[in-house]
Amino acid sequence: MTLDKTLRQRLDERHRDNLYRQIKTLEAAPSPIAVVDGRKLLTFSSNDYLGLASHSEVIRAQQAGAELGAGATASHLVNGHLQVHQQLQQSLAEVTGREAALVFSSGYMANVGTLCALLGRADNVISDKLNHASLIDGARLCGANSLRFAHNDPVALRRQLQRAAARGGNTLVAVDGVYSMDGDRAQLAEIAALCWEFDAWLMVDEAHGFGVMGSEQLPLAGSCAAAGLGQDEVPVLMGTLGKAAGNAGAFVAGSRMLIDFLVQFARPYIYTTGMPPAVAAGCIAAIELMRNAPELNQRLQANITYFRRRAAQANLPLTDSSSAIQPLLLGCEETVMTVSKKLEQRGFLVGAIRPPTVPRGTARLRITLSASHNHSQIDALVDALVAVLQEKIAVPL
Ligand SMILES: *Cc1c(COP(=O)(O)O)cnc(C)c1O
Repeated sequence: MTLDKTLRQRLDERHRDNLYRQIKTLEAAPSPIAVVDGRKLLTFSSNDYLGLASHSEVIRAQQAGAELGAGATASHLVNGHLQVHQQLQQSLAEVTGREAALVFSSGYMANVGTLCALLGRADNVISDKLNHASLIDGARLCGANSLRFAHNDPVALRRQLQRAAARGGNTLVAVDGVYSMDGDRAQLAEIAALCWEFDAWLMVDEAHGFGVMGSEQLPLAGSCAAAGLGQDEVPVLMGTLGKAAGNAGAFVAGSRMLIDFLVQFARPYIYTTGMPPAVAAGCIAAIELMRNAPELNQRLQANITYFRRRAAQANLPLTDSSSAIQPLLLGCEETVMTVSKKLEQRGFLVGAIRPPTVPRGTARLRITLSASHNHSQIDALVDALVAVLQEKIAVPL
């Protein structure tokens, strides 16, 4: 078949299944207002949980960082590793309570690179079924025996650990600390205990935990610290800088030896141009704000509580997520698309999440809250959700 004909067929299928994706073009990053096609929309879809993407101090630091060079001009191992990258890594190691950290250009690359460096054909990788696509792709690409377990189910994880042990080789268990499309947290204490029992290595993706949760000593470290787990229990901690840090890039934190190993063997670290120095400078400023302005996270937590209270009063079908990610499961792709379009007509931008991002039959609105929302904006969203969902029931398509 010709290329065009092949592409046409696959695209037509996507349309037919209500799974076709369309890119929205914004004038600037949401703050949380965004302008799309000349219209102002209030966004509840970004991962900028603390509002740092549009924080003036971060932007100023990033502008100053650009004075170091627009680009890093080479990979980190050639000449693309600047002092500003080293400072960022130092700061990440400190806030995560790890010996060292290594910066990657994206979370996708950090997950794929780490799994492929640590595991080979003789090994096993065990993943939660709702893990982020980058962990799933890493598990595929590394060539290890790939096993999955039912979401957050320690009994199912134990079965897979037993299978892996019977097969032999090293075993790594990879989970999201906070699930990106559900907002719930991994049962990390149970998972870590099982890894300990079976001598398996635990890797936790803190994309949605870093910067917004932690322990008393490490308030920014993420869900592992919140569960009382440190480097011994979670030797491989991955986090991203594109979520709560409001920027771009990612990191792996762990022992000095782990970081040394990744520098040698993680191909997505080695064979790519270093992070732009301005991004590193902006991230350092963002972490400084996380440390020195705890009121940002307090405002986020208050907004989450307020949204959940208002949504419960309005009888919206909430899940038990206590994170900034508050999904409304609607099930059918068509419903989700209709509801999100109607919300947009009313001036709200909310993520419409469909398969294959989430399992079939679990299409949803992915509502995210941020420190930059205020209560009247949250009230307005809840009112719009109630109105749109009532319309949807009154006038079925
Ligand atoms: C966003 C995300 C990633 C990917 O990070 P990027 O820096 O955007 O590539 C990885 N894991 C999880 C859980 C995420 O939500």
